[in-house]
Amino acid sequence: MTPRFSIIAPIYNEAENIPFLYDRIRDVMNQTGETWELIMVDDGSSDGSTELIRTLRSQDERVRAVIFARNFGHQIAVTAGLDYARGDAVVIIDADLQDPPEVILEMIAKWREGYEVVYAVRAEREGETWFKEFTASLFYRLIYRITDVDIPLDTGDFRLLDRKVVTVMGQMRERHRFLRGMSVWVGFRQIGVPYKRAARHAGQTKYPFKKMLKFATDAITSFSYFPLQLAMYLGFLAAGFSILAIPVVIILRASGSQAFFGQATTLISVLFLGGVQLISLGILGEYIGRLYDEAKGRPLYIVSEGPDDNPPEMR
Ligand code: UDP
Ligand code: MG
Repeated sequence: MTPRFSIIAPIYNEAENIPFLYDRIRDVMNQTGETWELIMVDDGSSDGSTELIRTLRSQDERVRAVIFARNFGHQIAVTAGLDYARGDAVVIIDADLQDPPEVILEMIAKWREGYEVVYAVRAEREGETWFKEFTASLFYRLIYRITDVDIPLDTGDFRLLDRKVVTVMGQMRERHRFLRGMSVWVGFRQIGVPYKRAARHAGQTKYPFKKMLKFATDAITSFSYFPLQLAMYLGFLAAGFSILAIPVVIILRASGSQAFFGQATTLISVLFLGGVQLISLGILGEYIGRLYDEAKGRPLYIVSEGPDDNPPEMR
């Protein structure tokens, strides 16, 4: 029998959180009075999370485990969860209990009203460093400005998706994934519910600065050509400036001024343009690398141990 609701929790070294996560989700989901499943996607953990997931699976048949062959990253882990989910509505939730499971009940209420995407909006954040808060806030505002999809500010992946949305997103097999953008891009009726983002229950963030940077570039390149156009704008700017500068320098020279003599001016302009060109090449490289990744067409993830029932086709 297929369950009514699926909950997806991506897990990367969350051993201290798993028992609490399971307890709280079970308590919340039992209040719905409907059937549900909890899909725990083990994204290559090495801290004993895998064993904990296996134990839960053997104790409660509503727990389904998808165990990856290695670490593939958060967005891919969630994608695998979406592939395996069978529910009419699917909820994505972090395993560190930063997303309070109780909010799921509000999401379900909205879903029953007919909304197909119900995303949680962080009204408040607790226990984050100012650096994380600042960069996150900057990131959401930048994405909002330069992309074509209006991704609501301060929303994470904590959201409920109707089966229709899950089906469409299942057809989007891009490698560098920005799920919260993709789930807006598909359209349908969308609504937010405010919530207070808690501090991590235990353990460290699995998103160090380097991963955050990659996540941000994935998000931007997935939904915007702005960085590519930036090279052109800078080119026009530099060309326009030099066209204006030529007559100025001619007039100054003709009137016997000593301005603009010397190597420094030349050197600075050469370095400046060289820098702009290298940056533009780098931006091109970001897009070309992603093109290459798509062209290879490798599977998004490799499952070493999946649920016996209803395995999706290898993608
Ligand atoms: N996660 C994952 N694979 C990774 C990194 C993170 O599955 O490579 C999971 C992690 O276990 C957690 C969720 O993604 O359930 C969000 O990660 P985290 O809490 O570290 O991010 P933050 O909340 O600090 O942005
Ligand atoms: Mg977290």
